[in-house]
Amino acid sequence: MNTPVAAVRQDLLDRIRQVVGDKGCITDAADMAAYLNGWRDGWQGRSPMVVRPANTAEVAAVVKLCHDARTPIVPQAGNTGLTGGSTPGMAGNEIVLSVNRMNRVRATDLLNETMTVEAGCILANLQQKAAELDRLFPLSLGAEGTCQIGGNLSTNAGGINVLKYGNARNLVLGLEVVLPDGQVWDGLRGLRKDNTGYDLKQLFIGAEGTLGIITQAVLKLFPRPRDQQTAFAAVRDPQAAVELLSRARIASGEAVTGFELIQRFGIDLVIRHLPQTPDPLAQKHAWNVLMELSGSDTGLRSTLETVLAEAMEAGLVLDATIAANQAQARAMWKMREDHAEAQKELGLSIKHDVSVPVSRIAEFIARADAALGKAYPDIKHLAFGHIGDGNIHYNPGWENAPGVAAKAKERDPINRIVHDLVVELGGSISAEHGLGLLRRDEVKHYKSPVEIELMRTLKRALDPHNLMNPGKLIEI
Ligand SMILES: Cc1cc2nc3c(=O)[nH]c(=O)nc-3n(C[C@H](O)[C@H](O)[C@H](O)COP(=O)(O)OP(=O)(O)OC[C@H]3O[C@@H](n4cnc5c(N)ncnc54)[C@H](O)[C@@H]3O)c2cc1C
Repeated sequence: MNTPVAAVRQDLLDRIRQVVGDKGCITDAADMAAYLNGWRDGWQGRSPMVVRPANTAEVAAVVKLCHDARTPIVPQAGNTGLTGGSTPGMAGNEIVLSVNRMNRVRATDLLNETMTVEAGCILANLQQKAAELDRLFPLSLGAEGTCQIGGNLSTNAGGINVLKYGNARNLVLGLEVVLPDGQVWDGLRGLRKDNTGYDLKQLFIGAEGTLGIITQAVLKLFPRPRDQQTAFAAVRDPQAAVELLSRARIASGEAVTGFELIQRFGIDLVIRHLPQTPDPLAQKHAWNVLMELSGSDTGLRSTLETVLAEAMEAGLVLDATIAANQAQARAMWKMREDHAEAQKELGLSIKHDVSVPVSRIAEFIARADAALGKAYPDIKHLAFGHIGDGNIHYNPGWENAPGVAAKAKERDPINRIVHDLVVELGGSISAEHGLGLLRRDEVKHYKSPVEIELMRTLKRALDPHNLMNPGKLIEI
């Protein structure tokens, strides 16, 4: 099926304005720029209008108008996605529909441990709201001050607490979605058990806006941890990190909430980018982990001390420090989160957001480093990420130097080396960030024809005119 290419008609734009009012439309080029360009990695697009409806009824009316005019829509929330999924194409024939005015918490039900929220709520505000209720909403990631729950759900975001609480997919009980023809599916149920057929909400989670527009969600809340302990430890190598994780889980039960691998080169980049960043340990070590235990038990500090001491005796841990207070713990996490921004210090960074079974992480890093080092002796290796979930941000590249831009031609061969290895080890080429445009074609190498065709069948069934974020995630 072809992606619609006709220009957007002026009478459609006028009708949309009648629905959402002047406050809900942006047409000025300067004001549209933040919606048409990506946060990083150079995604750029064009559109005659950014539409910002105030509620579900307005979203549904706009979608119906676009459906009848066969004008495609690019759904957008915080526009922090890293794969081009929320950016319109350069043809300028798509409307951008941002949910960022739909930012209210509609209801809370503390006995059911849920809150019902609109899609444009900023993630950090939802965490704050949960804290005010003496609860935890555990989704947490570097972009949380800007990204919005509609985008988090549409990309099935992960982040630093997946180990204990799961991905966005695991944090939702119900959804409301505007379908590509403008109908509203009200699936806003707060049920933990509902065995009445297909679990429709899961179709829209991780669909990257290709099947409909999420307008509201019922989110799960959790008890707030009463104790939280954070440590930074230098480890012998990535295999030692994985073994430390296993020991920490056995010793603390469900208490390991975060477990991040951090390479010395990554810390150096962060310090170069943000010189006030504290270095957690006096000595520099090639491989490190940031780990957090949290839960309702007190006494996690002594559990952490014991785990680290025993791992040190076993030669897995070389040095370690436990944060003395919240500020120190926060600084350790900030250094980890600043990795995303600090990679700008490299002249060229070739990013891979991959996952493999936790038991194969060390093998993945060793073999990928060896293969790339053989092909490109001057390449810099950078691996970090949520290894408790088997997720590695494997981002090799080159330092800034004359001629570095020309190395961009190596992007495809490098992707092939890395992704072939990931798949050989039973992994995925996109662990967290989704496919968008960045990995849409790449995934075809790795998914079976049956799986690709199943995805196309779903897309065609829900969006027969290919109007919802056409060309993203999958081509039909
Ligand atoms: C600094 C940084 C750190 C990050 N760290 C992590 C991390 O640790 N773990 C992780 O998983 N991810 C991480 N990410 C990626 C992050 O998950 C996404 O950027 C975020 O979830 C997208 O939310 P958003 O509101 O910005 O959505 P957008 O970027 O606006 O949209 C993302 C996709 O969802 C679609 N979409 C948006 N809203 C809707 C809607 N209401 N209905 C239907 N479709 C919609 C868009 O069309 C697009 O395809 C990070 C990103 C950054 C910039």
